Amino acid sequence: MKKWGLWINGKWEEGTRYEPLHAPQTGEVIAEIAQATEAEAKRAIEVAHEAFQQFRWMPAHQRAGILMKAVQLLEAKKEEAAQIIATEAAKPIKAARTELVRTIQTYQFAAEEAKRIYGERIPMDAAIGGEDRIGFTMRVPMGVVSAITPFNFPFNLVAHKVGPAIAAGNAIILKPAEKTPLSSLFLAELFQEAGLPDGVLNVVTGFGPDLGPVLNTHPHVKNITFTGSPRVGKEIRKLAEFRKVTLELGSNSALIIDEGVDVGSIIGRVVEGSFSYNGQVCISIQRIYVHRSLYQTFLDQLVERTKQLVIGSPYDEKTDITAVITKDSLERLSSWIAEGVQAGAKVVYGGTVDGQVMTPAILTDVPHQAKLIQEEVFGPIVSVRPFDQIEEAVGWVNDSRYGLNAGVYTPDINHAFYCVNHIETGGVLINDIPTYRLDHMPYGGIKDSGTGREGVKFALMDMMEEKFVSFHWD
Ligand code: NAD
Repeated sequence: MKKWGLWINGKWEEGTRYEPLHAPQTGEVIAEIAQATEAEAKRAIEVAHEAFQQFRWMPAHQRAGILMKAVQLLEAKKEEAAQIIATEAAKPIKAARTELVRTIQTYQFAAEEAKRIYGERIPMDAAIGGEDRIGFTMRVPMGVVSAITPFNFPFNLVAHKVGPAIAAGNAIILKPAEKTPLSSLFLAELFQEAGLPDGVLNVVTGFGPDLGPVLNTHPHVKNITFTGSPRVGKEIRKLAEFRKVTLELGSNSALIIDEGVDVGSIIGRVVEGSFSYNGQVCISIQRIYVHRSLYQTFLDQLVERTKQLVIGSPYDEKTDITAVITKDSLERLSSWIAEGVQAGAKVVYGGTVDGQVMTPAILTDVPHQAKLIQEEVFGPIVSVRPFDQIEEAVGWVNDSRYGLNAGVYTPDINHAFYCVNHIETGGVLINDIPTYRLDHMPYGGIKDSGTGREGVKFALMDMMEEKFVSFHWD
């Protein structure tokens, strides 16, 4: 049984306390993970602060070089990395491999962006009193970035924080999810091999509520980047005071399927967007609003396609559906279905439980106020409802405290523009599912889905200060 310590200042340190890590699929103990104390995390932040004093002056081409070296190393080790995800997250291996392809690309974008950090020329003489001056802005690194990440994309969502932070010339303290720490521990050694100076990336594993206060309030922490649940996001926001904070939180993403859409041509994507990684994706399809003229056809095809999903071991190439991340999560999902049914919902397919696996569930007649609609499900459950007018469907999409991505399939250009203009989310995807993200596109939510944007260039900008400079001549 491997015991993993804390990665501080470019080496492993023994932890004072360890917890067993269980594989979600089998329940088997797969590692012992150090649980950092507040004092250990504080020291890691101080180490990062110290390393930053040198790293901030490293030329951009060298920072880019380190990121590119990490890209090459990850490319060489991608199968090993995908197996780590399959083990600790019970993510089907084909989805884990896709995550690795994306992760490599994310670091590659970071390497490229490291060389494109520009300021702006300010036309000083546009204002009275601005004569005889040249004004411009410079983007400068901020210091220590505190990065806190969730379990569901343990490589790529870490890459969205570590990549831009290194590109910017910042140092990092990374706190991965308790459930999936192995990916980040693997990454720590990989970056050392890539030539990242000691202390620039530190990985402290442990229990979020214990470490939250120090990670979010230490005076050396200048920037906080968090991906996870809205509940924790709110706590972080309160603690952060004047620090820059990026919060990438949850949602209850909706998909509109308008009159005239060819259901057969989109059904595969809809099933993928609803149930990939058991719906444990922040932009997983949770609510489907279908034009009444297509409702029954769509529902029949959705059930038919969903039945074809293969439930099995995460290591099996054919598997689509695996164990959900924890027993608690499974119990919550089952209780939400039961509550929905009690309020009038019908389970058209699935929702049965075997071990820690839930069969993908399709429900209809779910009341709008049910948790299955209003809260973030984050599991393999979708609700389908017919609409008559596009305005009605958009109204339902917006009547939510979340707003991350929304998808709309429509052959009608006017309806497409109506949706773009009226849907209240961070992203609107026309003729696509909401479960669509490229790693360089701006990505983030409004309302309780968060603040700030990721997507490498956008995250990088958030991790730098804009310093203004003016030169005056006589
Ligand atoms: P979570 O909020 O339970 O945990 C996320 C991280 O926060 C973990 O590292 C955890 O240890 C830490 N944490 C917990 N309590 C803390 C505290 N009090 N202070 C500081 N840190 C604390 O989320 P999860 O279950 O790992 O992930 C699922 C959630 O993440 C869902 O809501 C999902 O929508 C969201 N998510 C959002 C995006 C996005 O880009 N918007 C992407 C993936 C996941």
